[in-house]
Amino acid sequence: MPGAHAVSTFVERFAAAVDAHAQELTELDSAIGDADHGINLQRGMRAAVERLPAGGAAPDAILRAVATALISKTGGASGPLYGTAFLRASQAVAGCGSLEAADVARMFRAALDGIRERGKAEPGDKTMVDAFTPAVDALEAGIARGDDLRTALRAAAQAAGAGSDATIPLVARKGRASYLGERSREHRDPGSRSTTLLFEAAAEALPA
Ligand code: ADP
Ligand code: MG
Repeated sequence: MPGAHAVSTFVERFAAAVDAHAQELTELDSAIGDADHGINLQRGMRAAVERLPAGGAAPDAILRAVATALISKTGGASGPLYGTAFLRASQAVAGCGSLEAADVARMFRAALDGIRERGKAEPGDKTMVDAFTPAVDALEAGIARGDDLRTALRAAAQAAGAGSDATIPLVARKGRASYLGERSREHRDPGSRSTTLLFEAAAEALPA
């Protein structure tokens, strides 16, 4: 079962993936936004890794440190949204020294609820919610079926990717891309791509 070390590794893997894909994320945002999603998230996740608490901290303390870094260092819409996600994730696992599969599912469901409450986006609005929602649904379904955490998180990452692909034909109804109306069609939503990276990092790191 994942403990604090696995949670730290998840944060580091997500930060490394954002680094590796910063240019791609920014290019996606240059098509339907203001070309800063990669840079925004890179700044926030680098700060998050620098602020990771020393060994011995519980999972909720690690996730709270990430939330604080993201809220203070990531600009744009995505900073407060991902910040809220990590804050809710932290609250969902408060008091857990290590996480059962059901705790991991509850953590990601709480993160999604936080994004939904803060950003008021519905599935189909062409945002990160379009990747996050099917990912959490797949994770819960896998665990309900009795899949191990690795299998369930891999399914979640795949579902996030499919959800991101499905944003391409949509017209944006939330965020900066919505200003473009019909011209937002035929472009992938950048936040849905970063959410896919987040679930891929979780699938690699959390089942450790
Ligand atoms: P900004 O749009 O302020 O420049 P970013 O470029 O960092 O911020 O992030 C853009 C991403 O944020 C979008 O691709 C989308 O996925 C997400 N986003 C924007 N507004 C919302 C919202 N209201 N709810 C959920 N996600 C949103
Ligand atoms: Mg932007």
